Amino acid sequence: MQPFTYHRATSMADALREAALPGAAILAGGTTMVDLMRGDLWAPSRLVDIGRLAELERVETGGDTLRFGALARMADVAEDAFLQANYPALTESLQLAASQQLRIAATVGGNLLQRTRCPYFRDGSSPCNKRSPGSGCSALRGDTRDMALFGASERCIATYPGDWGAALAAFDTSIEVASPSGTRTIPFAELHRAYGDDPAVETTLRPGEIITAILVAATPIGRRSTYLKVRDRRSYAYATVSAAVALEMDGDTITRARVALGGVASKPWRAAAAGTALEGQRLTRDRAFTAGEAAFADAVPRGDNGFKIELGRNAVAKAVLVAAGRAS
Ligand SMILES: Cc1cc2nc3c(=O)[nH]c(=O)nc-3n(C[C@H](O)[C@H](O)[C@H](O)COP(=O)(O)OP(=O)(O)OC[C@H]3O[C@@H](n4cnc5c(N)ncnc54)[C@H](O)[C@@H]3O)c2cc1C
Ligand code: SF4
Repeated sequence: MQPFTYHRATSMADALREAALPGAAILAGGTTMVDLMRGDLWAPSRLVDIGRLAELERVETGGDTLRFGALARMADVAEDAFLQANYPALTESLQLAASQQLRIAATVGGNLLQRTRCPYFRDGSSPCNKRSPGSGCSALRGDTRDMALFGASERCIATYPGDWGAALAAFDTSIEVASPSGTRTIPFAELHRAYGDDPAVETTLRPGEIITAILVAATPIGRRSTYLKVRDRRSYAYATVSAAVALEMDGDTITRARVALGGVASKPWRAAAAGTALEGQRLTRDRAFTAGEAAFADAVPRGDNGFKIELGRNAVAKAVLVAAGRAS
């Protein structure tokens, strides 16, 4: 691990001042950051610990917008009874992520910025454009089983691993960020970048910006929602594929539908075509499978990851049927 200085922020103003200094990085729960630093995958010269800023921990569910402070713990959000009843896709995505010990320490803001689990990125020595720009991509001729079907490029084919982000992509979500020059809001779809020429640049955050909150439009579509995660083990494993589905229905007709995918793309991935395939249609088993097909119609398989297309289609179909079966 490279030497670094540590600063515990005492206020938001203090955090913003420190985060703007050269070489600074934010520490929240530390469950990802410390691993990356131990493996020399990231070597900030200055750590700004925001973990004691109580104002960033609040979760507000009363108004037109759900507001999740960036430091809200994954476990607390997962166990919130109101959210479980009204936005099960959100709480399920957190319940199915990591382990309870990690969820108690980890924050919902930090979760969004976790980095890929690509083994070549993590081994610290293989050529990897994400870790060492311009060095090449070992995965292109290596083990492609867990790699992306969407949003990849010739420079990087890794997946974004987070569950919470995949669920948020099914809702009208935005991210509130602060910097010394003020506050701005980023549509969630614009927070992460698909891999273009430089896969090392993963988000549209500007240097020194701190995520303060995750905002989700409060909507009845949340009630009939679910997050379905398919993985190699029953627990404590990242998604091989996952599907978040949210529906509004009038009788047995689907009036509004949102579908998003995890484990298969370079970023949390809204499958707009799957939503379109459902809206205005009567819910049937065949219609649910049509949505699964639409979700993966543009998938680009590489090497060994083609099996994720069939798996993903079935995951979407099953999630549609589960969501539709929930009370409105
Ligand atoms: C063994 C293991 C298994 C896991 N399994 C899963 C899983 O199945 N599904 C899943 O989704 N996740 C999984 N995770 C990831 C875990 O959920 C994340 O490590 C955690 O959510 C990160 O939150 P944190 O608060 O600890 O972030 P930190 O480690 O403190 O920070 C993570 C990143 O976010 C940045 N950051 C944090 N907060 C802010 C902020 N407010 N503003 C700007 N930047 C910020 C940091 O600089 C860093 O880059 C797993 C992790 C481990 C170690
Ligand atoms: S897929 Fe991306 S993260 Fe993995 S080796 Fe290639 S460039 Fe690195």
